[in-house]
Amino acid sequence: MPGGIDPHTHMEMPFMGQESIDDFFSGQGAALAGGTTMHIDFALPVDGDLAAGYQAWEKKAEKSCMDYGFHMAVTKWNDDVAKDMEWLVKEKGINSFKFFMAYKGALMVTDEELIQGFKKCKELGALPQVHAENGDGVVEGQTRMIELGITGPEGHPLSRPPVLEGEATARAIRLAKFVNTPLYVVHVMSIDALDEVSRARHSGQRVIGEPVASGLALDDSKLWDPDFKIAAQYVMSPPIRAAGHSQALQAALSSGVLQLVATDHCPFNSTQKALGKYDFRKIPNGVNGVEERMHIVWDTMVVLVFLHFHSRLRHFLPILQTFEYLCFSFIFRFREMSRLVH
Ligand SMILES: [Zn+2]
Repeated sequence: MPGGIDPHTHMEMPFMGQESIDDFFSGQGAALAGGTTMHIDFALPVDGDLAAGYQAWEKKAEKSCMDYGFHMAVTKWNDDVAKDMEWLVKEKGINSFKFFMAYKGALMVTDEELIQGFKKCKELGALPQVHAENGDGVVEGQTRMIELGITGPEGHPLSRPPVLEGEATARAIRLAKFVNTPLYVVHVMSIDALDEVSRARHSGQRVIGEPVASGLALDDSKLWDPDFKIAAQYVMSPPIRAAGHSQALQAALSSGVLQLVATDHCPFNSTQKALGKYDFRKIPNGVNGVEERMHIVWDTMVVLVFLHFHSRLRHFLPILQTFEYLCFSFIFRFREMSRLVH
C-alpha cells in the first residue's frame, strides 16, 4: 500500500490560548505509524502577517521526519496580505489559502474580506479554502446555551448546529461562483453542508468537499458522556454530528461527491481541555486522527463497499463467498497488524 497524504493538520498550533500538543515530530511519528507519509499543515499569520506566519511554520517544521507542505490562512485583508499571498505563491510554492467564516473576533473574516481573498486567489491561480460555519450564528448559539444553563461539552454541538454549517457552505459556494473561482470546503461534517457541495458539483461548479476521519466514523453521543474528560476529547468545529450524518458522508465518499479524506488533526491534552470544564466555550477545539485515518477509511469504506457489492451479487456468483472469505481474512490480519503497531 502506498503512503497516504493527510491534507489537513494543525501541528503546534496556537489556538484558544493553548498550543496543540503534537509538534511536527510527534505528529509525524503518529502519522507514519498509521501509514501516512505526507501531510499539509495550516500555517497561521502572526498578527495578520502572512510572511511572518509562514516563517514561523517553517521553523516549527524543522524537526520534520517525513514530507509536508503548507496551506496558508488569511485572517484579515489589506494590501500587505495581498502582496504576501503573491510572494507565497510565486516564491514559496504555497497555492492554497484558507478563510475562516467562524471564530468571531479571532480568525473570522467578513464576506467583504472573503470576496477580496477569493479574487486574489483567482488572480494567482491559487485555491481558496473555507472553514464554513456562520460565526455570528455560533456566538448567538453559544449565548443561548449559557442562558439555558448548559455549560458542559454537550453545549458545543448544540450551539453550532448543522444549519449554520450549511448556511456558510452555501454562501461560500455562491461567492466562489460569483468570483468564478474553484473552492475547497474543509471538514464537511453534516448532511446540510454535503448537500450544498453536491448540488454545486452537479451544476458543474468546481467545488471540493473534504470529509475528515472523525466525521466519517463518529457520532455526537460521546459529547454527552457524563465524564467531562471523555466528552471534551470529542470537541472540534464544526462539531461531530448526530447519528446519520457520518453515513451520508460515507455514501458521498463512495459515490465520488467527496473525493479525499483528511483529519483536522489538532489534539489538546486533558489538562488543556479542562480549561473548559465549567464553560464549553473555553474547551480548546480539536481532535486527533493523523495516525488513525487510513485504518478508519479501511474500516468504514472498504468493508462497506465490499458488503454492498456482495449483497447485490451473492445469489448469482457463489464463488464470491470464497473471495469474500479471503478478503476478510486479509482485513482481520491487517487490523491485527495495526494493533501491533499501536
Ligand atoms: Zn482545521
